[in-house]
Amino acid sequence: MPRKFKIAVSGSDSDRAASQVHDIGLHLYRNDAGQMGFEVIVGGGLGRTPVIGKTVRKFLEPQELLSYLDAVLRVYNLNGRRDNKYKARIKILVNAVGIEAFTKMVEEEWQFTKGKDLRLPQAEIERVKGFFKAPDYLSVEHAQSSLETEFIAHPAFATWHKQNTRDHKQPGYRIVVVSLKNQLQAPGDISHQQMDGIAALADEFSFGELRSTHDQNLVLADIAQRDLFNLWLKLTDLGMGRANIGTLTDMINCPGLDFCSLANAETLILSRQINETFDDMNYQYDLGEIQLKISGCINACGHHHVGHIGILGVEKGGKQVYQFTLGGSASNDASLGKTLGRSIDQDQVVVVIGQILDVYVQQRETDETFLQTVQRIGFAPFKERVYGTHQRSAA
Ligand code: SF4
Repeated sequence: MPRKFKIAVSGSDSDRAASQVHDIGLHLYRNDAGQMGFEVIVGGGLGRTPVIGKTVRKFLEPQELLSYLDAVLRVYNLNGRRDNKYKARIKILVNAVGIEAFTKMVEEEWQFTKGKDLRLPQAEIERVKGFFKAPDYLSVEHAQSSLETEFIAHPAFATWHKQNTRDHKQPGYRIVVVSLKNQLQAPGDISHQQMDGIAALADEFSFGELRSTHDQNLVLADIAQRDLFNLWLKLTDLGMGRANIGTLTDMINCPGLDFCSLANAETLILSRQINETFDDMNYQYDLGEIQLKISGCINACGHHHVGHIGILGVEKGGKQVYQFTLGGSASNDASLGKTLGRSIDQDQVVVVIGQILDVYVQQRETDETFLQTVQRIGFAPFKERVYGTHQRSAA
């Protein structure tokens, strides 16, 4: 292969795998005829050349997944650039030839393997399915609990339940997202005591299974409603009960200069400042969903291009400064954020975040999210607030 290659798979109605910014993104869904299959998206990526992937096949039957992906990889392998490591990614090839021509190349290549050795027999699909058996769920009568008494007695539990748990397809169960974004640790960090503790909670409450998410949190996927209150108490004891999923402080933050030799700027100091400045959780809840993503260099490990608010650390003249982008998204409506304006000094980053949020609060319409407001009103009000009408630098 010319270079590294990343595949993301999403089986949910809402894309939780940032699949449109991977070399290949696969969306599993049921079509109008009720058949299960994949939408295949190719050529997404972040880093120095951010691109939203494009659909090469709207519906692919599961049996042909390997043969079709093999065709995509062959086209990339044969035609991808090898002369320049920054250009040796499939997104560069797709952009160079165009999605129609790329799709034609893949379809032609696929004719050699389609329906042959790489076609997955149903028996093989069933064998693999065997590794993903549903756990031994309690009956709904035993699993469910109204929780009303606990909600009234412990409002903090009610808030956590609203903010950090999700619907489950199994009646009587909830999915719990455990926040690794508290005020005292770097986003995504977890101590060895917390690791021991959460492993024990996974055993006690969630069939021994714990998942990590690309946005630096953990998921306990199968929690009976009747166990939620006890789980919350124990998570709170571990310092992992913060009810901030989806809020401003649930940010993605790469390690930056503190730990990464490629970094141009510090990033962890920003998460500390953001937590100290925006410490009023009611304010955060009022703002609603905001995805803040921070990277310490153009490699974009913090996915800043697809943050509703993105922050990129850069080095200019020996000084660390930060570029803001607005309007990115890694969800179903994936989009790349656009640069707001000139770079900002480190000590002004939280000031600028506050100014951006002020504009949102002043301009939002009923039930409008931050991203929707940015898309509706455009950049001008944000630029004016941050840089002033004469484009003064906030730095
Ligand atoms: S974005 Fe840059 S600084 Fe941050 S972890 Fe990646 S390579 Fe390191």
